[in-house]
Amino acid sequence: MGISGINDGWFIEMSDQSFAGQARALKVKSFLHHGRSKFQEVLVFESESYGNVLVLDGIIQATERDEFAYQEMISHIPLYAHLNPSKVLVIGGGDGGVLREVVKHNSVNSVTLVEIDETVITLAKKYLPSMSSAFNHPKVDVKLQDGFMYLRAAAAAHQKFDIIITDSSDPEGPAAAFFQKEYFQLLFNALNGTGIVIAQTSENVWLNLQYIKQLMTTAREVFPVVNYCYTTVPTYTSGQLGLIVCGKKQGTNLVQPIRQPSETEQENMRYYNSQMHSASFILPTWAENCLNR
Ligand code: SAM
Repeated sequence: MGISGINDGWFIEMSDQSFAGQARALKVKSFLHHGRSKFQEVLVFESESYGNVLVLDGIIQATERDEFAYQEMISHIPLYAHLNPSKVLVIGGGDGGVLREVVKHNSVNSVTLVEIDETVITLAKKYLPSMSSAFNHPKVDVKLQDGFMYLRAAAAAHQKFDIIITDSSDPEGPAAAFFQKEYFQLLFNALNGTGIVIAQTSENVWLNLQYIKQLMTTAREVFPVVNYCYTTVPTYTSGQLGLIVCGKKQGTNLVQPIRQPSETEQENMRYYNSQMHSASFILPTWAENCLNR
């Protein structure tokens, strides 16, 4: 089986749906794993300049060099916008980076991670040790299951969470259902009254503003508070990666963090701080006009 995207010692990421007419390339130092799991094509390679890289279905998921910018923002924005987050659900996130960030919060009593593909977890433990360090944390419970099905069952069992983080892959593979209205409805139902949900949009304002607008319109049909914020990650979606954040309670302030990191918590963070939290919601004028006016 050939490896998608490999050409003359380079891995080239191309996606006609998300980034038509352009590509991103990383030079390969060595191949660490390649195969097809039950759900997707999985590649792990050592790159020349970004450390080890995880690729699913030809799309970069995480690199050792810049992953913290993604994991910290998708985790700490909802957690610091919530007064007392105790029960957290992560959908996807098989590399473990979000778990690593969530367990930094003392108020968190339990984190459930629902990952469809065990192969990703196994490979992360082997090749991405700094990301996967929290899998054995006593507060962590891992379920190998489809996140959508898990949420349906949670709704039927009236299970509720304070924070839900959708750390899924792009809408083209097993994560397709995560970008539909029914998913937002399931998320809404699975949240406590003051709950907050955050999801990666797989998109940035340069590449597909109309898609983000449509996603926010869908989310606004379900949630009273919906915002778009972003983080900067060189290896995702041209460097600016959007996150959609929704509050269940009318008037929830997602932009100003309600809590600040303690000194010890801040020492363990490389990207997130309270100023960055608020700044990540400020958009350039043309994007602001399209998404929020
Ligand atoms: N930060 C990454 C990005 O945006 O490119 C996402 C990282 S994480 C590795 C994405 C994970 O979502 C993958 O491990 C994938 O197997 C998982 N995933 C995709 N569809 C899923 C589903 N339906 N249920 C649970 N997990 C799913």
